[in-house]
Amino acid sequence: MTGTNPGRHGIYGFVNYNPDSYSQIDEKLVTAIPLRGRTLFDILSRHDLRVAAISVPITYPAWEINGFMVSGEPCPDTRTGLASPAEFAKSLNRRYAFQSSFWSKSNDEIIAGLYEMDDLRTELAIRLLEEEEIDALFLVLGSTDRVQHNFWRFYDPDFGARLGLPHEQKYEQVIPETYRRADRLIGRLIASLNDEALVFVISDHGGGSAATVHLNTNAWLHQAGYLGIHATKDSIAARLKGPVFFLRRALDNTLGDRLRKYLPDRLIRQGRALVRNIAQIDWDSTRAYRFPMYPPAEGIVINLRGRQEKGVVERRVYEPLREVIIEEMLGVRNPLTGEKVVAEAFRREELYEGPHIHNAPDIILILQDGYTGGSQISGALVTPVDPASLLKVNGEHRMHGILIANGSGIEPAGEIKDAHLVDMTPTILYGLGLPIPSEMDGKILTELFTEEHLRTAPRAAPAQLELQVAEADGFLTPEDERAMKEQLKRLGYL
Ligand SMILES: [Zn+2]
Repeated sequence: MTGTNPGRHGIYGFVNYNPDSYSQIDEKLVTAIPLRGRTLFDILSRHDLRVAAISVPITYPAWEINGFMVSGEPCPDTRTGLASPAEFAKSLNRRYAFQSSFWSKSNDEIIAGLYEMDDLRTELAIRLLEEEEIDALFLVLGSTDRVQHNFWRFYDPDFGARLGLPHEQKYEQVIPETYRRADRLIGRLIASLNDEALVFVISDHGGGSAATVHLNTNAWLHQAGYLGIHATKDSIAARLKGPVFFLRRALDNTLGDRLRKYLPDRLIRQGRALVRNIAQIDWDSTRAYRFPMYPPAEGIVINLRGRQEKGVVERRVYEPLREVIIEEMLGVRNPLTGEKVVAEAFRREELYEGPHIHNAPDIILILQDGYTGGSQISGALVTPVDPASLLKVNGEHRMHGILIANGSGIEPAGEIKDAHLVDMTPTILYGLGLPIPSEMDGKILTELFTEEHLRTAPRAAPAQLELQVAEADGFLTPEDERAMKEQLKRLGYL
């Protein structure tokens, strides 16, 4: 949306990271507020193009653009509108985002609901294209992601069988069928465009089986001498009265909210385990500790003096300590199989840049396929994921997604390598002959375009991003907040 990395816009995921604090995440809900005014939707609007943005994640609260916006998840359960402008919101008589209770439904209901939602969003997109002279349309079909989370074990029965999970043949084709449906919907959408139109089909990640083994990062840090734990249970209990109570509240609120939308059982368990295990850490003898991220990423934070409340690591040691931990983590092997566990390891500034870089943990690991971060401290380095926790959610993201492009100026055949999500906004702006704001981190994917187009359509001079932050229509009201908390209570998170 912004052509910038999270270090610049500040949103790393569905929870707000705060590695400076032992609670690790902020209680604040993730909203689109920091993005308003700086997205592709805003830039195109300022060039007088009519824009429609339908169900793009993290566009709540919807804000004013030159056109129409329907908020994507996460957004509160309590409203039907969730769109801008207000008049348009009023004309929508359906929700375009799932309510949290949806995810606890049966498999059949989930499939039907996902298909219905994709149909609904596509119909709205086609209606807006036909009736509102839309120049640029953004539509998110959420089903392909979701079915990979919930139906992977049926698609890959061997995977399910290895875990001892019951198989149901009727769900074997859910994932391929969802892709065929998405393909048909995109086909319908394209049929309503002219031949010149630029079309990009992208995903922000791929899918695969869920991890079956935990890497207990804190256990490794403990064994390697970087993390101290309290000697007795009594001292754990004593510590519980302090920061851990705050941590428990923070986790229950923000994780609860995230879970509500996405992966209820698994994450709430992880969150609770995290709270339990952090209580064991003796900060005075801890130089580094785990910072959970979204799999396959896993973070490590240095307990830095002057930054962390009980920091012990001197600033001059920070860099060499990070380097040593990175080197050692890259050598970690599963003691049971001998295989490498960490695929890649980075200092945060190798991945992120900008004013929000301090929201990233000091070290970011990418784990090998099959592994996910675990919260045990005193036990084994690797432990199996409880198969029961994979009954509902048994697929997980992969780093590589898809990119398909077609239209005027696009090379009709070929393959593109090394494309990143941040490249999409500059690439689209170039495709439309518009200047690219100089703050963007992405690059134009020139390989997508024909040589003739590259020759005859020079890049516009870089532009200054004028930040005009538009008003949001209806932000979280006290009633919303109450309703969300009420729901969390019902789900047992509060
Ligand atoms: Zn997903």
